[in-house]
Amino acid sequence: TSEPFDYAAAIRTIPDYPAKGVMFRDITTLLGNPRAFRRTIDELVQPWAGAKIDKVAGIEARGFIIGGAVAHQLSAGFVPIRKKGKLPFETIGMDYALEYGQDRIEIHVDAVEKGERVILVDDLIATGGTAEAAIKLLHETGVKVEAACFIVDLPALGGADKLRALGVAVRTLVA
Ligand code: IMP
Repeated sequence: TSEPFDYAAAIRTIPDYPAKGVMFRDITTLLGNPRAFRRTIDELVQPWAGAKIDKVAGIEARGFIIGGAVAHQLSAGFVPIRKKGKLPFETIGMDYALEYGQDRIEIHVDAVEKGERVILVDDLIATGGTAEAAIKLLHETGVKVEAACFIVDLPALGGADKLRALGVAVRTLVA
């Protein structure tokens, strides 16, 4: 995995989706490419290879795909962070602001234990609002969020800096 890999070429951009003026980064092309998918997971977790990570937390829904593979790679458990009302057991949640209105993410109350080391994953970071809420929720449970990992960063939107301000290392593969 030492020679450079062109992640941008493995990701498709869809103009005007889901709304006019939005350039949507579609990672399904990367996921469907065997070499690209393996390489993505290997490179995302490379700094934590051999580290003791207890849990990988993935944000619904594309964060589940990446998070499951990352958890397997690190021999960690997987924790789904879901939109409100989707989890069957008792939950704790965190509200966060959207452009219009607000949303809520939740985890099961017994999904993590105080003192555990957790890595957060999602496909993409834009404004960082979703990941920031996820980190605040995880911090409330008393775990240590070692890092937040994303395939794609949209740096103009400042999301990664927002997470670093919470004291969390941020790893991304393509801007
Ligand atoms: P943020 O909260 O503004 O950082 O938005 C990040 C969330 O929105 C993540 O869960 C992403 O999956 C999703 N998202 C925003 N823009 C895109 C995109 O262009 N492609 C794929 N997902 C996106």
